Amino acid sequence: MFDSHVHAGPDVVDRIGEDEDILQSYVAAGFDGFVLKGHYESTVGRAAALARRSGLAVVGGVALNQTAGGVNPAAAAAALAAGGRVVWMPSADAHTQERAGLPRLCDRDTRLSREVYAVPPVEPHAERVTELVLQLVADHDAVLATGHLSGPECAWLLQRARHFGIRRVLLTHPSYTVPGLTPGEVAELADLGGHVEITAYQLFHQPGCSPQMLAEVARAAGDRLVLASDAGQPDSPPPPEALQQLIAVLAAHGVPRSRLDAAASAVPAELFLR
Ligand SMILES: [Zn+2]
Repeated sequence: MFDSHVHAGPDVVDRIGEDEDILQSYVAAGFDGFVLKGHYESTVGRAAALARRSGLAVVGGVALNQTAGGVNPAAAAAALAAGGRVVWMPSADAHTQERAGLPRLCDRDTRLSREVYAVPPVEPHAERVTELVLQLVADHDAVLATGHLSGPECAWLLQRARHFGIRRVLLTHPSYTVPGLTPGEVAELADLGGHVEITAYQLFHQPGCSPQMLAEVARAAGDRLVLASDAGQPDSPPPPEALQQLIAVLAAHGVPRSRLDAAASAVPAELFLR
């Protein structure tokens, strides 16, 4: 199996374990690899160190939040040149996050800027820098993940990604509170070429989330479904177990087991690995 979204310490919030603990949980569960995500720092070096000492396929990247300078081509270029495989569009500092009142780094210190980030069509002035980020992702045949950006921004990104020849686009948990898309909207974006992420985090922590809704999204995603834990919170199960619980719940709600197994193994491995 391959978990395409997990968090580990050190981080700006408490995590269930540090890199080594998370690595060992996947080794013990017999996983092939995972994607280490951080909202506020590049995980490229940490992932490379974990891969080297374990032999697992551990993938890192950079999220374009305030600590990266927002939608900053230099941050993407550095992460990709160093071997990063994924660039996440703004997540915790996306405009959607602020509007939804979800946690941000700047909540911790009033001296920090509350600047938020967006791409076209929400922020037309961001077109030039965003397109440069997309060109860099295309150059490296890396993964573009949509972060917490809104549905219209995801649609714009998918269209521009196709223009620049990006082959790997992951819609980051589109049915989570941010961006909060419906199964119908998710199906439209999948048709534009996006893979569709559903996370165990949604199951455990998303207000108003039901297994039925997640199963509907899974059906809307078709063979572009990707299941990930997005675990690492102290009050979530260990990441491999969280992902297994998500699979079990979706299977109990009628999603074919073979589809679910592929969505937590071959599909994300193909998406993230060369
Ligand atoms: Zn996450």
